[in-house]
Amino acid sequence: MRVLIVEDDAMMGRATQAGLGELGFAADWVRDGVQADAAVLATRFAALVLDLGLPRLPGLDLLKRMRARGDRTPVLVLTARDAIGDRIKGLDTGADDYMIKPFDLHELAARLRALVRRANGEAAPVIVAAGVTLDPATRAVQFAGNAVELSGREFDVLRELMLAAGRVLSRDQIVERVYTAQEEVESNAIEVHVHHLRRKLAPDLIRTLRGVGYLFRREAADRDCPGGSPGRIPDGKRTP
Ligand code: CA
Repeated sequence: MRVLIVEDDAMMGRATQAGLGELGFAADWVRDGVQADAAVLATRFAALVLDLGLPRLPGLDLLKRMRARGDRTPVLVLTARDAIGDRIKGLDTGADDYMIKPFDLHELAARLRALVRRANGEAAPVIVAAGVTLDPATRAVQFAGNAVELSGREFDVLRELMLAAGRVLSRDQIVERVYTAQEEVESNAIEVHVHHLRRKLAPDLIRTLRGVGYLFRREAADRDCPGGSPGRIPDGKRTP
């Protein structure tokens, strides 16, 4: 889940980026409003963590610009403890949530997941499609009732594919959603992750549309075709 942190305080920005990274987010960090404006125009982030007091372009002005051009990216505003006026202005300008500094990283992560879930029109925190159950909070995956062990990046790719179940995602869209701007991405990286996901889950869960992208099935495959193979057993590792 790709998020943008907009924070001019270097210590705070660095710590938030590292912390969210450890919690499974692909977190980019910029230090002023103008850089942030350029970043949100170039990249579709799942959510923004926005400080209000920023050089060059204040957080509220950035938020106004985004909403004025129809950008509906969920925005969580960071404010000082005593700045009630800022929080009200932030929410009225189009922020979706706020947190007071200093904040707990786990709470920030949970609030971001909730914002993204609501933005995707999902009511339940756990994503279920085609027999796969994926919990973005615990990063646990089950297929046909069995726990499946995935690498961090395999999990990220699976989550994006499942969020888009029934729709095609291009390779570039997946890369944009699971890697930060600083990361080097091998040209076949997504192909490799999808290959591993098929091996650990089931070969027919993810379709490749040559030259277009990848499609996660919305429904479970029909497993009782006449004379066909018996029910598919996932070969992913099971947790004890
Ligand atoms: Ca600031």
